[in-house]
Amino acid sequence: MRILVIEDEIKIAQFIKRGLKEEGYAVDVAADGEEGDFFLSTNDYDLIILDLMLPKIDGLTLCRQLREAGRQIPIIMLTAKDTVKDKVRGLDSGADDYIAKPFAFEELLARIRVLLRKKDSQTVTTQLKVDELVMDLLTQKVKRGEREIELTVKEYALLEYLMRNAGNIVTRTMISEHVWDINFDTMTNVIDVYINYLRNKIDSGAERKMIHTVRGKGYFLKK
Ligand code: CA
Repeated sequence: MRILVIEDEIKIAQFIKRGLKEEGYAVDVAADGEEGDFFLSTNDYDLIILDLMLPKIDGLTLCRQLREAGRQIPIIMLTAKDTVKDKVRGLDSGADDYIAKPFAFEELLARIRVLLRKKDSQTVTTQLKVDELVMDLLTQKVKRGEREIELTVKEYALLEYLMRNAGNIVTRTMISEHVWDINFDTMTNVIDVYINYLRNKIDSGAERKMIHTVRGKGYFLKK
């Protein structure tokens, strides 16, 4: 999952970025509305955390522009003022949720999870299941059958992306856009390295292989 944080207060932006990265999200930070708009036109994001008061293009305007352009991406609005008026303006502009600064990071995380689940389907899911592979999205525990699999944060993020797209080929570009941030160098073989880590943990010793390579295209997780 890749998240765009549009926030001009560097300390807050870095606080959010650090926390989200620890949870396995890929995170880009834009320092004003114009930069945010540019990032949105060049990258594919799963969710936006959008500050209300921003230089160049403010959060409300940017949010409204995105909705008018038909972009459905989940948006959480951030603001310094916890007033009903601000909340209503934020939601009226098309934001899905709203959080007032200062906030507890756990609360932001919970709201992100809710919106990403909504994006998946209308029903609330707390786990992903592909054949005997099960990922608990709340505890972040992964099991294949009865065997618990220990994953690093990045391996978890990569597996989550493969599981959400199970049965379909995902290209290296798609993986880099959803699992890594904007500083990722697509010329490296980092993705292949991580796929191998996952293979070792998930498929080693198993009769049925789940992670498959499609030569010249990418990978897919067999359903
Ligand atoms: Ca601001």
